[in-house]
Order: sequence, then structure tokens, then C-alpha cells
Amino acid sequence: MATTKTKTAAKTSRYTELRQMLEDRRRELMTEVQGRIRDVRADGNKDRDVLDQGESSEVDIQEDIEFALIQMKSETLNKINEALRRLEEGTYGNCFECGDEIAHARLRALPFAVRCKDCEEARETAEKRERMAQKRSSSTLFFDMTN
Ligand SMILES: [Zn+2]
Repeated sequence: MATTKTKTAAKTSRYTELRQMLEDRRRELMTEVQGRIRDVRADGNKDRDVLDQGESSEVDIQEDIEFALIQMKSETLNKINEALRRLEEGTYGNCFECGDEIAHARLRALPFAVRCKDCEEARETAEKRERMAQKRSSSTLFFDMTN
């Protein structure tokens, strides 16, 4: 059937595009993480002995920041691997709530989005309402406690 064929073709190209996007990101992140690890190592080795205490603690802070960044990037890298795994299973890129395909542009901006735009907006509105309700109830609670 012609319609089935077109649909399959569209699915395949979407799969290819998403895979390409995720792999590009993975490659970028890997290069960045590896580059940073190299920098940290190079900095750690050079001039360590000549620094006085104050300077070396500044270096330590700098290194802590670098490590935190590396850790963050590695976590993103894990998420990308997870997304690629889900893509293989055919569950990546579909809305968690309504099951519709999440728009490609949205996935490009937010590769780990689990909801389509409509569902996300609905959820945000619901959360906002909930927060308002909570705020009200907690201020009531606060009021009660001061009495
Ligand atoms: Zn949805």
C-alpha cells in the first residue's frame, strides 16, 4: 500500500535525522570532555611546586569547577546514550503523555524532552496553578503558626 510505504519512509528519515542529531551532540560533548580532561591534567602538572598556598588553592577551585563541568557534560553524555538506546527501541521522540511524535525542532532544542509542546505547556500551567495553591496554603500555615 502506498500510504503505508510513505509513512514508513517518513519514519525512517525521522529516525535517521534524530540519530544524526544525537550522534553529532555526542561527538561534540566527547571532544569537549576529553579536551577539558587534558587541560586539567596539563594545568595540574605545570608549576605546581612554585605556587604558594594562596595560588594553589585558587588552582584547586579552578580545578573543582573544571571537574564539575566535566561531570555535568558526562551526565549529558549518558543521557544522549540513553536517548540513542531509546531511539533504537523506537521510544525516543514520542510524547510521554499523548504518544504523539515530538516536533523535530523541539527535540533539536531540547534533546531530552519527553513531552510534546502542547503537553508540556499543559503541564506547566497545571504546575503553576499547583504552586499558587501551595503558596496560598503555606502562607495560611505561616499565618496560623504566628498566631
Ligand atoms: Zn503530547
